[in-house]
Amino acid sequence: MIKKIILLMGPPGSGKGTQGKILAENLMLPHVSTGDIFRKMTKSDTEESRLLSEYMVSGRLVPSDLVNKIVRKFLLSGDYKDGCILDGYPRNLRQAEYFIENIDTEISSVFFDVTDEIIIKRINGRYNCQSCGAIYNKYFDNPKTDGICDHCGSSELTARSDDDEKTVIARIEEYKKETLPLVEYYKRKGRFFTVNAEASKEEVIKEIALIAKRI
Ligand code: AMP
Repeated sequence: MIKKIILLMGPPGSGKGTQGKILAENLMLPHVSTGDIFRKMTKSDTEESRLLSEYMVSGRLVPSDLVNKIVRKFLLSGDYKDGCILDGYPRNLRQAEYFIENIDTEISSVFFDVTDEIIIKRINGRYNCQSCGAIYNKYFDNPKTDGICDHCGSSELTARSDDDEKTVIARIEEYKKETLPLVEYYKRKGRFFTVNAEASKEEVIKEIALIAKRI
């Protein structure tokens, strides 16, 4: 059994990644993002990684059988016995059912509530550190030294290939159709917290710190 898993729910660009890393530090639990795992996997040259890329570049969800297999292997590897912050999974009903049936754990959920307009603005300026995954924004959240990651010192800072406007719109549509219905389900299961993800990064950090005390 895994002690506890905190699910991060919300549309792309709602701040799950940034705030998830902060929550993970607060609770001293690892931050597990399926998007990050898949992006790493796409760097190798296998049939599986080609399939992942094919879906990711177009903003569509990767088929659930493959996602479930990868997540199960990852979570049951033994490294996550004390729990984790799970970002980006489950993303549809099929994954949620698989999760309940295969992963024995206590669940809390944090929902990042934000409108489409804000999402598009945020994603538009977003870029990442390729080495540690830290997230920046060219309009309002650059590293202290231009082009150098604050967290690990790497100079490999680039935008995600699926952060262009057309793909973002496809990702938001997938989210509304497939993932949003799960939010209603998790509201009734375990502890559920809603964050006003339209507030400034600093305000959301404060809200996350309060939630961390209640989890
Ligand atoms: P993210 O970094 O969470 O925005 O995920 C980036 C992309 O990875 C998504 O647009 C999907 O193509 C894929 N992905 C990540 N997590 C999942 C999942 N649980 N189910 C299906 N596809 C996923």
